[in-house]
Amino acid sequence: MTNKSSSELVIRRLYQITQSHHQGFEQQLSELLKMGLERFELDIGILSNIEGDNYLVEHCVTPDDVSLKSGDCFDFGESYCNITCKAQGPISIEHMGKDDKYASHPAYKAFGLESYIGIPLRLNGQLYGTLNFSSPKPYTRHFKEVDIDALQLMASWIEVELIRREQEQQLKALNEELRQLADFDSLTEIPNRRGMRKTLQKDINRLSRVKGQGTLALIDIDNFKQLNDAYGHQTGDQALTEVAKVINSGLRDYDLVARFGGEEFLLWLPDTQESGCQKVSRRIMNDIGQIKLTNNPITVSIGSCSFDFKAMLHHSSRSLNIDKIIDDAISIADNALYDAKAQGRNRLITTEHQF
Ligand code: GH3
Ligand code: MG
Ligand code: MG
Repeated sequence: MTNKSSSELVIRRLYQITQSHHQGFEQQLSELLKMGLERFELDIGILSNIEGDNYLVEHCVTPDDVSLKSGDCFDFGESYCNITCKAQGPISIEHMGKDDKYASHPAYKAFGLESYIGIPLRLNGQLYGTLNFSSPKPYTRHFKEVDIDALQLMASWIEVELIRREQEQQLKALNEELRQLADFDSLTEIPNRRGMRKTLQKDINRLSRVKGQGTLALIDIDNFKQLNDAYGHQTGDQALTEVAKVINSGLRDYDLVARFGGEEFLLWLPDTQESGCQKVSRRIMNDIGQIKLTNNPITVSIGSCSFDFKAMLHHSSRSLNIDKIIDDAISIADNALYDAKAQGRNRLITTEHQF
């Protein structure tokens, strides 16, 4: 076969392998190593990962009588790949035992492999490992430039694919982080309205099915504008963070506190009646009073709506409009909050409602 047609064959085969994403990376690697073994007429194909002195066989294709498997580790110094990595480029050796330079190399003593062709793999400028093919038998012909070209093509694809997979992982992690962030308020680090809705929808859906109960309360800092005016916006922000922390501490882990608006928080206590809400509110009002940020203690007004689904016989829970229930409960709590403000602030007004 002419050189030209043999490299065309390599390119065509490589193209087929690299296009078959559906097979998965592992399978593609196997195909690639097999292709290399056929191309070079060698026996052992390895993709290695090198970290420090550790030479890890990440993927390999071997004849049945060679017991090498992925996960195997060797001393990097005792591998032919050490030669390749030091050379920072492709290395081919036809007959190790006859080679003046390599016959005394520890790798030859350790593995006795006679023929070898390998290339370093780099990811973002860093050594990743090697792609290499070898055999215990000496090579009958000479490795030529087309062989090196084929090796380089394979290595390039692996490098690109490894980088792509690494970036894909990073992107996934980043997306997950963004998804989380989208549900949280950046100042107070508690859920925002969006995060709050998700929890309320899930919980109220559940409660409506079991004809359960819950309490939703709105907590609004009193005269917050004055605090901002007197101490500055930064202290105002600090007050918001402190208040969020205080409300959050001491809640059961299935309770929710969310930043509902500027200086307004929503408290959601599932499976809790009016009396439970009074207890929690007293604790919160007392703890907020302890915040040492201003000369006068910070106070809040709270309006709550305790509701249950016991009386709701005429609905099947499937036809329930959960969003409307949430909006109604918020609106009732907001009216109670308005009354608390009107009656002089620093107080809790509770209401009860049946859906
Ligand atoms: P009330 O007792 O009736 O609730 O009076 P108030 O002053 O607390 O209420 P008002 O609605 O008049 O003012 C709320 C203030 O909260 C106005 C706004 O500038 C401030 N605010 C809203 N968001 C933030 C924020 O993120 N940081 C700071 N520092 N201030 C905020
Ligand atoms: Mg206020
Ligand atoms: Mg307000």
